[in-house]
Amino acid sequence: MIDRARINSSQEVLSGRRDLLEAAASGINDVLVIQGFDVPLVTDGEKAAQVISAYAAETLNHRRGQVNVTDFALDMVNNTDLGNPAVPDFILLDTDLFNERTNFVFGCTWASLGLSVQSIARVMRYTNDPGLQRLHTRHVARHEFAHLRGLNKASDYLKPDSREGIYQGHCADTCTMRQCVTVEEAITQAKELENHELAGFCTGCFRTLWNKRYN
Ligand SMILES: [Zn+2]
Ligand SMILES: [Zn+2]
Repeated sequence: MIDRARINSSQEVLSGRRDLLEAAASGINDVLVIQGFDVPLVTDGEKAAQVISAYAAETLNHRRGQVNVTDFALDMVNNTDLGNPAVPDFILLDTDLFNERTNFVFGCTWASLGLSVQSIARVMRYTNDPGLQRLHTRHVARHEFAHLRGLNKASDYLKPDSREGIYQGHCADTCTMRQCVTVEEAITQAKELENHELAGFCTGCFRTLWNKRYN
C-alpha cells in the first residue's frame, strides 16, 4: 500500500523545463489512477534538485557525455532518503543516460528499490517542439513508472515480447509497455496511444497493474 509517490529532478529541469516535470508527473499520475490510488505526488523542490544535480555530475562519464544511470541510482539510494521501496520515487534528469548494456536509455527502473530515473536529453535533441517534448516525456514516464509498479517479467505480460535483450520484460501488444528504441518510434507510439483508454496500456498490462496495486 502506498500513501504517496515522489517526483524530483535536476536543477536544470526544475528551473528551465518545469513543463516537462509536469508532463512526467502526469504520466506517473496516469499509472496511479489505473491502480486506483488517489494519493499525493510530492516533490522536494530545490533542495533535492541540488543533491540530484551533484550526483548526476559525479556519475557523468565525460568521454560519453552521459550519466551512468546505475551508478547514479545506487548513489541516490545509498546516500539520500530516495530509494525507500515504500515510497515510489521518480527522478527526471536533463543529462543523457546509459547503462552497461546499451548506448543510451530514455529511463531505467529498479522496482525493488522503488526508483525510476528518466532523461529528457534525447527528445530535447530530437525536436524543439515543446508539445512533442511533453508528449514523449509523459509517455516514457508512464512506461517507467509502470515498471516500478509491477510490470517487469515476461510473466507480468499477457503478450510478452519474445525478442531478446532490451525487448525482454516488455509487452508485444500496442501498448505503453511496448519497447521503443528511438525517439521517433516513441513519439509515433505516444501519438498512436494518445487517445486510447487506460493511458495506452493494453488490457493485459492494465490487469497486472491492478492486481499488483498493493505489492
Ligand atoms: Zn521498459
Ligand atoms: Zn501491454
